[in-house]
Amino acid sequence: MATAAYLSKYFKRITIIESDDVLNDVFMKSTPSEILDYRCRLESPTSLGRSGVSQIYQLHGLQGEGYKILLELFPQLKDKLFNEYDVRTYSLKTDLRLAASGIILNQDLTEDFDWLGIDRFTLEIVLRREFCLKFSNQVEWKCNSRVTELIVDRSLNIVKGVKYRSKKNTGSSSLEIYGDFIIDCTGHNTSSPKWLKEKFNLIVPTIQIHYGCGYVTCIGERFRTGDPSLDSVAVIGSSVNSPENNFGFIITPMRTIDTTDHDSLGILATLAINCVNSEYPPNDSYENLLEWAKENLDQEYYAVLKSIKV
Ligand SMILES: Cc1cc2nc3c(=O)[nH]c(=O)nc-3n(C[C@H](O)[C@H](O)[C@H](O)COP(=O)(O)OP(=O)(O)OC[C@H]3O[C@@H](n4cnc5c(N)ncnc54)[C@H](O)[C@@H]3O)c2cc1C
Repeated sequence: MATAAYLSKYFKRITIIESDDVLNDVFMKSTPSEILDYRCRLESPTSLGRSGVSQIYQLHGLQGEGYKILLELFPQLKDKLFNEYDVRTYSLKTDLRLAASGIILNQDLTEDFDWLGIDRFTLEIVLRREFCLKFSNQVEWKCNSRVTELIVDRSLNIVKGVKYRSKKNTGSSSLEIYGDFIIDCTGHNTSSPKWLKEKFNLIVPTIQIHYGCGYVTCIGERFRTGDPSLDSVAVIGSSVNSPENNFGFIITPMRTIDTTDHDSLGILATLAINCVNSEYPPNDSYENLLEWAKENLDQEYYAVLKSIKV
């Protein structure tokens, strides 16, 4: 969507071919609290019609520059997130505590950045609604449609279009679409290297890296740990530093919540434990994750985990 929004300055008509049913009522009409319910009750993305982004429920950090770009492309986005979704931003200098090998990284920054406290699932939905409002006349969506092949002109060495197939009518023949400028935004499972090899015998250099990464993400309300250095910050994180330290931890707000409980920090947060080097945190129950965290994480991160109501 960011690519299409950016290209809208240069192209009169844009077509997005998307294999998921992303314009269905769940994504386009649900209220902010219904979206939160979907996310918190862990209704699988596939059952909601979003199987194409398997990492959609994982904790994502949005780079500061990426956030700025989104605000430029969608000027109403910030107000909408703040006013309707109880989202807010946090100062990278004062509201975060990010560490690597025990050293706090963010306190001596010369420039401050906003950190957007939101989950990827909600951001994607709100972004798409903004996108549809802003570009309804310029952008056409072909949802439930899967790109299957490139249409090329070998003599000119160009890709002229793509073939795509509707997922609803599985037996139907494939359709063709042509364009002046074609971008593959299909993410990490892209077939482009395979297609370019088939059509042009072009070999795109790729390197396969096996780094054995495991991620566990949960959602919960943050409560006081009793340690002011932890309770005063909204985002707490520690990066992996393999091979000495294969475990990383991050917790970041996804919404603010109204509460009368004095011990609550008023933050609904996503937390993630990520491991590399084929070390994997348990994901069968929060109790087991806590046991594991007690053994493997710094005690302060364990204290944060223990104080959370998932
Ligand atoms: C566990 C995990 C944690 C991560 N954490 C971070 C993080 O903290 N920060 C960060 O910046 N990145 C993170 N990433 C990486 C990030 O998720 C990806 O880089 C990002 O999603 C790529 O975006 P994209 O738009 O290119 O592709 P995607 O988000 O993968 O979207 C691809 C789209 O193409 C559609 N599609 C796929 N194939 C076809 C087809 N043949 N025809 C039509 N449509 C198709 C899909 O349905 C989907 O909508 C993480 C990834 C994982 C797995």
